[in-house]
Amino acid sequence: MESTKHIVLLGDGMADEPIKELGDKTPLQYAETPNMDKIAKGGTSGMVKTIPDGFEPGSDVANMSIMGYDPSKYYTGRAPIEAANMGIELQSSDIAFRMNLVTLGSNLGGRQKMVDYSAGYITTEESAKIVQFIQREFGNYEFSFYPGKSYRHIMVWKNGKDEIVTTPPHDILGSEIGMYLPHGDGAGRILKIIKDSQKVLPKHPVNEARISKGVNPANSLWLWGQGKKPTFPAFGELFVKGKKLNGAVISAVDLLQGLGVLMGLSVIEVEGATGWIDTNYAGKVDAALNILSTGADFVYLHVEAPDEAGHMGDTSLKVQAIEEFDKFIVGPILDGIKRFERYRILLLPDHHTPVGIRTHTSKPVPFSLFGKQILANNVEGFSEASCEKSGFLINNGHTLMKNLFG
Ligand SMILES: [Zn+2]
Repeated sequence: MESTKHIVLLGDGMADEPIKELGDKTPLQYAETPNMDKIAKGGTSGMVKTIPDGFEPGSDVANMSIMGYDPSKYYTGRAPIEAANMGIELQSSDIAFRMNLVTLGSNLGGRQKMVDYSAGYITTEESAKIVQFIQREFGNYEFSFYPGKSYRHIMVWKNGKDEIVTTPPHDILGSEIGMYLPHGDGAGRILKIIKDSQKVLPKHPVNEARISKGVNPANSLWLWGQGKKPTFPAFGELFVKGKKLNGAVISAVDLLQGLGVLMGLSVIEVEGATGWIDTNYAGKVDAALNILSTGADFVYLHVEAPDEAGHMGDTSLKVQAIEEFDKFIVGPILDGIKRFERYRILLLPDHHTPVGIRTHTSKPVPFSLFGKQILANNVEGFSEASCEKSGFLINNGHTLMKNLFG
């Protein structure tokens, strides 16, 4: 008998607050999402707390919870997860930092402010030149710089300090950076790298070309999200006794791929997967159905675009990203998965990214479980309000995955 196929459909940051210009509806309520609504109506829906108390509401913590790992036991930081995906071998005393290429500007008083956490979504090709340059200029026995994708890179500090207070740059858009620069024990070393980068980066040929094109230059490094290498049990061991699960992660984002690597899942690269609304949706769907056809029991299909639209504070783009997720991911999966005798789908965002505040919040998110032996609990559609109305709340987010397999 063929095994049951399990698929998680994750729309990053889809959850939001009611918005005036949408008639006091949230983007999930406002958007046309017939496929997600079908899953919610036909399945068991509720709310799940993916960010445990005391944790920052990030995609790292939220997705770990959803994959069945209790962040309070397994979380060491965001950067070591991304480093795992980049094939960077961390020693036990190494500290990995996320290194953003950012755009700083100055306010009226001449103080520096965070203009863009992504340096205008700088291309991977351009940023590789910059990070290689940084490695030549600043790299040494203690510090190494590794190019990643777009604006997202890694710095490793040998025998480094991980108690430094750092701030995600997407949380301080438009703010003066002074109070958000690294501080605490050991911060001086990191601060020096950031300050030194501001002396050399504006004159880099890649930035001169960007400035002449009128797009944001990568005129500073920004270091945050640091931590030591975590140790994860293999995926599934925590909630399926005695059964090793064969599965895969499909995502454009290093962080999600890194979680997959650390959990012993395969990471499928899909050509044209961008992390934005121009992503190759059909390629992701095909890859998911293919891997399930060739023996995998589990696929984690992640789409980043709704979160990015939330960070941009763009309501109509967020609605568009959600509608495209519904039309080009959820619909084709619902259709294609019928080829399997038995299947289960878990649909959810990882966290809220309200367009009104352009960053993540910790509130519980809506979820729907759909498929074999799952009974409907009469939810009207897939939204924050309708799933909350079910009265079903899972407080320990890491126990949700058990329900997909249970
Ligand atoms: Zn985000």
